[in-house]
Amino acid sequence: MPELAEVEFFRKQWDPGIGHVFDRVSVHPKARIFRETPAPTFKKQLAGETLEASHTHGKKWMFQFSNGKWLAGHLGMTGKLFTASSDYKPEKHDHLVLHGKATTLVFCDPRMFGKVTLDFEESGGFPKWWVDLPPSPLDSRFTKTLVFDFMARHPKSPIKTLLLDQRVFPGIGNWMADEICWRLPIDPATRTGELDESERVAIWKLTRQLSKQAMGVIGDEWKKPPNSWLFNHRWKDGGNCPRKDCGSDLTRADLRGRTTCWCPNCQV
Ligand SMILES: [Zn+2]
Repeated sequence: MPELAEVEFFRKQWDPGIGHVFDRVSVHPKARIFRETPAPTFKKQLAGETLEASHTHGKKWMFQFSNGKWLAGHLGMTGKLFTASSDYKPEKHDHLVLHGKATTLVFCDPRMFGKVTLDFEESGGFPKWWVDLPPSPLDSRFTKTLVFDFMARHPKSPIKTLLLDQRVFPGIGNWMADEICWRLPIDPATRTGELDESERVAIWKLTRQLSKQAMGVIGDEWKKPPNSWLFNHRWKDGGNCPRKDCGSDLTRADLRGRTTCWCPNCQV
């Protein structure tokens, strides 16, 4: 599932459309991505508008169109944003397609866990729900106090599970949560109430550090992260801990419904 940096990467794929008018919109009316805002609304409201700017926040993205129209969404499990040539013919999973004279903007999502919505703001400002989103780990408002208070309210939650909570850790997903626990290092099943102060500080700092690093590595050009990260070793059985002087077999198991990977030697 795309996390903070992957979502940033996909947002940028539509940037060639900024400043262009999109004359026509094609949709698959029954696609589940339209479960909140019906498909005909996009056809009617976005045709003839200009893409003005784009933004991301955690796992969500937002495209600003002329006349105070905001196309927002998330990618679910398998969603992708890309641009194609102006004569592009939409394919089976291209559920929302904006056709312009110079380029075509495509939202493709085979499994349709993604979602799109459309907001109108006459003032020209961001929709209120967007402004009210919790601070991103990249934001200076993502403070130690914010994280400590949240941990204090959920002492029984495993730290890995807490890190996946979008109310305080927007954009952190499965691989990032595993990476943070591995870097500390701490057993991902450790209950939050059992963390001492230095571990809680480290969780906050590592969340910020990894978010910035992921944006640099994946958010720009989707380069492969360095082999010194857990990232390259966690995806299939048989990986080894990349920590210097460790190299133990990694373990993969379910933790509260999410596949979790950790090093049983380092993370105790
Ligand atoms: Zn290890």
